[in-house]
Amino acid sequence: MMSGIPAASVDGIPVTQLQGVGSQKAARLAKLGIHTVQDVLFHLPLRYQDRTRIIPIRQLRAGDSAVIAVTVTQAEVQVGRRRSLMVQVTDDTGHLWLRFFYFSAMQRSQLQPGAQLRCFGEVRRGPHHLELVHPEYQIITADQPISMNESLTPVYPTTEGLHQLSWRDLTEQALARLDQQMPLPELLPDAVLQRLQLPPLPEAVRFLHRPPAETAPHTWTDQPPPAQQRLAFEELLAHQLSLRQLRACQQAHPAPGVATTLQHLADQLRASLPFQLTRAQDRVIAEIRADLASPHPMLRLVQGDVGSGKTIVAALIAVAVIEAGYQVALMAPTELLAEQHRHNISTWFTPLQLSVGWLSGRHKGKRRQQVLQALVQGELTILVGTHALFQQDVQFARLGLVIVDEQHRFGVHQRLTLRNKGGALQPHQLIMTATPIPRTLAMTAYADLDLSVIDQLPPGRQPVQTVVLSAQRREQVIQRLGAHCQQGHQAYWVCTLIEESEVLQCETAEASAISLQQVLPDLRIGLVHGRLAAAEKEQTMRAFKAAELDVLVATTVIEVGVDVPQASLMVIDNAERLGLAQLHQLRGRVGRGAQASFCVLLYQSPLSALARERLAVMRATSDGFAVAQKDLELRGPGEVLGTRQTGEVRFRIANLLRDQTLVPLAQSVADELLQDYPAIVPTLIQRWLGDKTRYSSV
Ligand code: ADP
Ligand code: MG
Repeated sequence: MMSGIPAASVDGIPVTQLQGVGSQKAARLAKLGIHTVQDVLFHLPLRYQDRTRIIPIRQLRAGDSAVIAVTVTQAEVQVGRRRSLMVQVTDDTGHLWLRFFYFSAMQRSQLQPGAQLRCFGEVRRGPHHLELVHPEYQIITADQPISMNESLTPVYPTTEGLHQLSWRDLTEQALARLDQQMPLPELLPDAVLQRLQLPPLPEAVRFLHRPPAETAPHTWTDQPPPAQQRLAFEELLAHQLSLRQLRACQQAHPAPGVATTLQHLADQLRASLPFQLTRAQDRVIAEIRADLASPHPMLRLVQGDVGSGKTIVAALIAVAVIEAGYQVALMAPTELLAEQHRHNISTWFTPLQLSVGWLSGRHKGKRRQQVLQALVQGELTILVGTHALFQQDVQFARLGLVIVDEQHRFGVHQRLTLRNKGGALQPHQLIMTATPIPRTLAMTAYADLDLSVIDQLPPGRQPVQTVVLSAQRREQVIQRLGAHCQQGHQAYWVCTLIEESEVLQCETAEASAISLQQVLPDLRIGLVHGRLAAAEKEQTMRAFKAAELDVLVATTVIEVGVDVPQASLMVIDNAERLGLAQLHQLRGRVGRGAQASFCVLLYQSPLSALARERLAVMRATSDGFAVAQKDLELRGPGEVLGTRQTGEVRFRIANLLRDQTLVPLAQSVADELLQDYPAIVPTLIQRWLGDKTRYSSV
């Protein structure tokens, strides 16, 4: 016997207890993540059919699904390209054809003129008239009247071998148990439900599976019904709670305390800078330093638009941790960016006599061993690198702080791996992102982190002027690029490619570099792409930074982080192929110096509606948050967070776009539950996240 789970809870009732679910069907259901009766109840319809009313033929449009009540007027077998039985039917308002490609002799004899039918099907435009192809139909006889459905008919998302009729049967059985066995216990306190005016759970579930005839589901995208909000809210709440728990777990560990008075190295570093920090940078540094002083691990996300100066903030924090006697790991998502960080950190740290280590995926053999040894012996104060830092054999002597740059590329799990490299003490974690995540998303995806925002750009920056031009104007653009460089400025030429083929993208970049050089023979043109040797890339980047090159032709490898303030023109070829986030990142490479900067988005016609809208957004605004909000609307939350790769934040019911307004509510109710009703928290998390919370105990 299972103990601990109340016998009457659907949580515990395996789906095989429903009639007709044998091992084969159970296996198919498992593919959809459905193991229990509760899972069945949370498997909501994609859409609904209206079989509650008879629709006059005159009102039908192609694409509608509808019930019609008709009389057969003609029936004939057509022998065209495909043999088919064509049945003309009529009601008082018009006529249409039923088309059957497969039919039996029985059907032929039934569907004779005069027969009365009730049909359901999707209306299509035929060669001459509207048609229903293979409709469901019933012959009406006087002694056998048919009643209409009382609720809308659900259509479920499904997998091979599970038909809609099975789903209707499964959900019917599950819903029946709602009455008999109280299977979905209400977990939310009455006070909360009443305040938020949400219906009780069983009622909400029943409504969504069998909406009453008068509801209009097609309006739900704009105005979700309370039933749906009820479920989405509970799911968002459970998600919030699980992240809070994760956070509480992590913060329970001891961490190295770094006293705020340790300012010696930081003061020296500040003094060596050619600029003053912005107020926003100072504020964020103070927030971080306050965290570090506590003996529990910091978990903080620093958001700042491209060019807001996150790197120096990270460096100033790093030296404080080093001064306290600990090591720092600084991790970047691409080799190019890691290399640039190494360059900056070395420039800043060497005068302070701090040793900087560097590890990338390309380091092999002896060189790698040397770095690892110096690290574990505590000779290195900071290790800069790519995801190579996650590897098992990378061991620190006294890891005190992990800095992850451009966080959206790494998932929670990866962060946790690094955290575990700290030995007895948990290192602090500082996560930096330039992806301005809309607030609701940030609150959901990063509920386990505190948030600091660098909401100010260094002074003197000029907004980038963006123009959108058809590729037919390419020659003109190239001439303009030439003139720009003749005046002593520098420029990027960015190549994109439709498929995710790095090889092809690199070839395109090579070809572009050659053709630009032919048209503009006087310019010094460099090339970076992902397939060049690290040393070669590095050298080219350095030359560009030192203004020994006029133009840098590049693939999208320069998307993140690359910082060359004098470059003030960027041309993005085939810009229509890129998403908003990527375009914004790329454009962020210019506009970093004091001179006026330009971004030219070259597109290939014809533009899709979506691409047109993206380019219009880019032209209209350079505010990262506005771009991100638009991106969320155009692409949906999964894509924005890059969760396709990381598998996080996948909701069964909630939709972060549609349910945005529920997120702050879920947050405040999460506080309330933790405070006043802690006993229901684990049950709520288990219901919605189940095994997915496993990593909280890593
Ligand atoms: P991001 O936030 O995009 O990572 P970076 O850290 O690369 O930005 O900084 C962009 C550029 O701005 C760098 O050249 C950096 O040295 C410079 N910078 C950073 N802070 C300031 C400041 N307060 N004043 C002037 N320039 C700054
Ligand atoms: Mg950066």
